[in-house]
Amino acid sequence: MAKKTTKKVSQNKNRNKKQDNQAGEKIVIFKENMTVPNLAEQMGVSNAVVIKALMQLGVMASINLALDRETIELVALELGYEVQDEVVTDVLRYDEFVIEDEEKDLKLRPAVVTVMGHVDHGKTTLLDTIRKSRVTAGEHGGITQHIGAYQVDRNGKKITFIDTPGHAAFTEMRKRGAGVTDIVILVVAADDGVMPQTLEALDHAKAANAKIIVAVNKIDRPTANPDQVMSELSNYGLLPEEWGGDTPYIKISALKNEGIDKLLDLIDLIAEIEEYKANPNREARGTVIEAKLDKGRGVVATLIVQSGTLKVGDNVVVGTTYGKVRTMEDDLKNRFKEATPSQPVEITGLNEIPKAGDIFMAFEDERTTRQIAEKRLTLEKEGEDQAMRASLENVFKNLGDETKELNLLIKADTQGSIEALRNVLMTIDVEGLNIHIVRASVGAISENDIILASASNAIVIGFSVRPTGNVREIAKQEGVEIRLYNVIYRVAEEIEQALKGMLEPTFEEVVIGQVEVRDIFKSSKVGTIAGGYVTDGIVKRDSLVRLIREGVVIYEGRLASLKRFKDDVREVRQGYECGLSIVNYNDIKVNDVIEVSELKEVEV
Ligand code: GDP
Repeated sequence: MAKKTTKKVSQNKNRNKKQDNQAGEKIVIFKENMTVPNLAEQMGVSNAVVIKALMQLGVMASINLALDRETIELVALELGYEVQDEVVTDVLRYDEFVIEDEEKDLKLRPAVVTVMGHVDHGKTTLLDTIRKSRVTAGEHGGITQHIGAYQVDRNGKKITFIDTPGHAAFTEMRKRGAGVTDIVILVVAADDGVMPQTLEALDHAKAANAKIIVAVNKIDRPTANPDQVMSELSNYGLLPEEWGGDTPYIKISALKNEGIDKLLDLIDLIAEIEEYKANPNREARGTVIEAKLDKGRGVVATLIVQSGTLKVGDNVVVGTTYGKVRTMEDDLKNRFKEATPSQPVEITGLNEIPKAGDIFMAFEDERTTRQIAEKRLTLEKEGEDQAMRASLENVFKNLGDETKELNLLIKADTQGSIEALRNVLMTIDVEGLNIHIVRASVGAISENDIILASASNAIVIGFSVRPTGNVREIAKQEGVEIRLYNVIYRVAEEIEQALKGMLEPTFEEVVIGQVEVRDIFKSSKVGTIAGGYVTDGIVKRDSLVRLIREGVVIYEGRLASLKRFKDDVREVRQGYECGLSIVNYNDIKVNDVIEVSELKEVEV
């Protein structure tokens, strides 16, 4: 089943600014990825006070790492504050809203199904066969054009199929909390067996919490060996129902249209049991499946509605773009004016091409959608969303109260190393904590690994392998930690330490330069820009900064921009002038000193 992404929309406007409420209570509002400076600011104390409190609790916190809720509660309590949950009311973060519907408003919706599997095992053929099966003669000729999503109608009940080209698109959607898919059909060719992408697809499906059906395809082939597929997949936790397990296997020939009815019956049955529901009577919200530019029609986006009803004429924000829904049609070019939950639609009317996985939501008027989209675009550019997601330390700390689990993604040189690693990891026994391996496979660390790790909040363990090409860069952007080893016991040792919460930070902050502020410019677009002179060392575009006024640290954060004259630059050295601005901070003054630092990886 798809992860619940619904959140509460409330009118409570007093988030973030907590100190004393009317009743005089001292309150800290908890947000994800809160760091020492965020916490200190809310309580009106200096970072040092928070760090001291943390040290008394035995936590060595580095300033930019996220603190978990329990730690925040303990620190807050120490200083006489109570911790409450953040209620997201900021429309700019509409994609994080929690929508809470009353049970009585929820109506049954069709199941949403994704087909995944190894290349050439028959995904496209299966999607085409299912699609053709419902088209009555004369309705639409040969269906060959690519479609992102469609529905089939069986006995008055619908099923939605979405085509996520490649697993990366699926993961991308899941990573953004889209949780679109209820059921994954894992296609495995009976004459080829379990292949690398089969396992990759399985990892993704499991991580998305989707119900898995295995479709053993190409059974018409003389060399087909379905039992082999079943026994291979049993080793990966998919024990067939007929062997006493709980994974349904259906033998099919996508090409010859055999077993397809059985497959659809099974989906109907699962939908009946699971009772997938949504509220159709609210503002529309859902996810982009794919989008492109069409010569005649402009931006064309395939969306799936997840709650509410989308109507022609609705004003929508989609990620960082917006528009008014001009036309809506299905894959057969039937036009309609309204789309309800689980319904996929191709719409026109957006201003820019959104990304697969972007969340859309309808708002009351065009002005609102334009403002939200534009502001989101600026924020995205500033890179504000790049919270550090997974360092061994904060992954561990982010574990909620109940889910005490450390996710690992293992890449190694040989299957033997993987087995050895599994074995030593199994021996780690820290009470109440689990190690969960989201993927373990042979080969270099790839971009796909990083995407999966990011989506599952996992740490990547590389054993006698290295990341390929620009994978390190991607890992950095995604905030995924890669740890490389070539001695097995070291892995076990460090993971155990991490689980026990004893691991030292893996990054150290190193001061690399100093800038003196000599001039201030105000810009309505970017806020305050400081004209400065690098008195010492170097300042880099991605530096961390500490603003010092008369010897006192006033603010800590990171650079939003760095310029030489009018040009954006990556770095400026000692003896040169530069222009800079700081993320979320505008109160820079002449004579302020900016201490510049960067995080250096500590050898493991
Ligand atoms: P995809 O890469 O997973 O989308 O695989 P395709 O659907 O493109 O299929 C790859 C090849 O396998 C094509 O040549 C199909 O015609 C063939 N194929 C797909 N399903 C079957 C099947 O059930 N039986 C046989 N014999 N061939 C199939």
